[in-house]
Amino acid sequence: MRRIAFISHSGGLDSTTILYRLLHEGTFVYTINFDYGQNNDIEVQTQNRIIDNIKSNEKISKYFKGNLKLDITSITNALSKVKTMQGVSGEVKDNTGHEYYFPFRNLVFASLTSMLAESLILELKKDSDELFEVCIVLGIHKHTDIYSKQYWDVTPEFSKALNTILHLNSDFKNCEFKIFAPYENEYKSAIVDDVVKYNVPWELTTTCYNPQRRGINYIPCKECEACLERENGAKESQVWLSKYNTSLKINEYIIS
Ligand SMILES: [Zn+2]
Repeated sequence: MRRIAFISHSGGLDSTTILYRLLHEGTFVYTINFDYGQNNDIEVQTQNRIIDNIKSNEKISKYFKGNLKLDITSITNALSKVKTMQGVSGEVKDNTGHEYYFPFRNLVFASLTSMLAESLILELKKDSDELFEVCIVLGIHKHTDIYSKQYWDVTPEFSKALNTILHLNSDFKNCEFKIFAPYENEYKSAIVDDVVKYNVPWELTTTCYNPQRRGINYIPCKECEACLERENGAKESQVWLSKYNTSLKINEYIIS
């Protein structure tokens, strides 16, 4: 049975780390980048750099199958129409005031990713009777209360429920659909452990909710909950500290 994974990839640390982990494990991977009205131009720039980095790595590039871009702004734009219709906002800010949020985001992403996955698998099966294990990746992890509240759609319960739904599709031409969420019971530091283990280009990833433009570059704000959690994850990772033994590396970034 061949394992193929599909990742909603933002160029952030979490999805990028899972991407590298899977490639190093010899799993074929497709990435999907959603444009839903966030700072997508920054994500696309970041993603391009990461994909270039993968393509330059002989060991893992053969497992990277490609990137799909999916514009769902026509859906998210409907949220503002809800506001017009009902006098309520469909765009909800989190407690930092920076993150673009839309309801049921991870469920929508996982559903659309699964839709694309099945279509691609159908194409692959035209030429083969091979069995496939199809992994829909969730880059979810535990959060400490200091940095973020635990949103309902980043919990192990959410992952388990989605996995149950995907399993209903198990009769589909000998394919096994499942959720792959390796960090669902881990804090950020476990992801940083794997950044070191799988040689993830930390400086190319961007996590910030509110990146600032400086010339042709974007730099992280270092104040939002995502920036703080990322920095703290590195400080709490013994693997990171044993390799770098300095906070200098934490502030490395290339976003342009
Ligand atoms: Zn930030």
